[in-house]
Amino acid sequence: MIPDLLVDIQNLNKKYNLAGGMFNSKKRVVHAVNNVNLQILRGETLGLVGESGCGKSTLARLIVRLEKPSSGQITFKGTNINLLHKESLKTYRRSVQLIFQDPYSSLNPRKAAAAIIKEPLTIHRIGDSKTHRGTVLELMAKVGLSAEQAQRYPHEFSGGQRQRIGIARALILRPELIIADEPVSALDVSIQAQILNLLKDLKQDYGLTYLFVSHDLNVIRHMSNRIAVMYLGQIVELAANNDLYESPLHPYTQMLLSALPGCHPHKKRKKALIRGEAIIESEQGCAFLSRCQYKLPVCSEQQPVLREISNKRFCACHLAGLIKEDE
Ligand code: SF4
Repeated sequence: MIPDLLVDIQNLNKKYNLAGGMFNSKKRVVHAVNNVNLQILRGETLGLVGESGCGKSTLARLIVRLEKPSSGQITFKGTNINLLHKESLKTYRRSVQLIFQDPYSSLNPRKAAAAIIKEPLTIHRIGDSKTHRGTVLELMAKVGLSAEQAQRYPHEFSGGQRQRIGIARALILRPELIIADEPVSALDVSIQAQILNLLKDLKQDYGLTYLFVSHDLNVIRHMSNRIAVMYLGQIVELAANNDLYESPLHPYTQMLLSALPGCHPHKKRKKALIRGEAIIESEQGCAFLSRCQYKLPVCSEQQPVLREISNKRFCACHLAGLIKEDE
């Protein structure tokens, strides 16, 4: 077992059956999470990046057990979370908290900030009204909100302040793992850096572990120790932050980075290599086949699996390590 292993995801699959359209009664199966193997280590920020609709949020929802997998398992500190019931599930839900993308829709508009932040304590029957007040005010100060703002309602706050309320609510149960699902994508760019730096500070102060989900490679780079790149439900590359940005191995990662202005000042990347749209191919070959400029006959015959290419660098491509990025 890996030391400091907090979450271990093994062969995880999530499929949805979609009804056929008006002129087509045939049901479709969408493989939102496709045979994912991934570990989250205690104390790290693992970035999960990919285009919208690639399965990132589904994976996040499976980890917090808002959904159940079609197959495979997730263990948290060695326990299979799908075997948890009642009290053990409640304990798990205290340990793993979600920060949502849209701070406005995730806050109850009829409750004041202090009541929103306090709610998890009431649900989990922790403390009493005397201790709640102190805990809430302490946490509000920690996330940059003043005591005077405690009785204000969500519509009286800016987007950044609302996200601060969401963060305080996620922290009040003193979780071990925070899953931040696009936590700044609904905010103005000027506010994003403040929230990201706040999340970094809180991680340090509370000894947290983050799974940080975003489509934004700049945000992911700023936040993450390691990064997993997801494409059509699969992890196609996994590497330490610097390795990924310095020398991406998978053609999809290369394509994403090629569109990132000023990503690496010492390296001239071909620009605008973003090609095509993510479409579901047959399960047999590589999921990236239709967009890949390097494809070979083997790519349509065999699905590449995620394998270690060099020290702690993983890639799911038949040509991993053989492609020169600027070819
Ligand atoms: Fe491209 Fe083939 Fe690699 Fe898929 S396996 S990314 S099609 S080179």
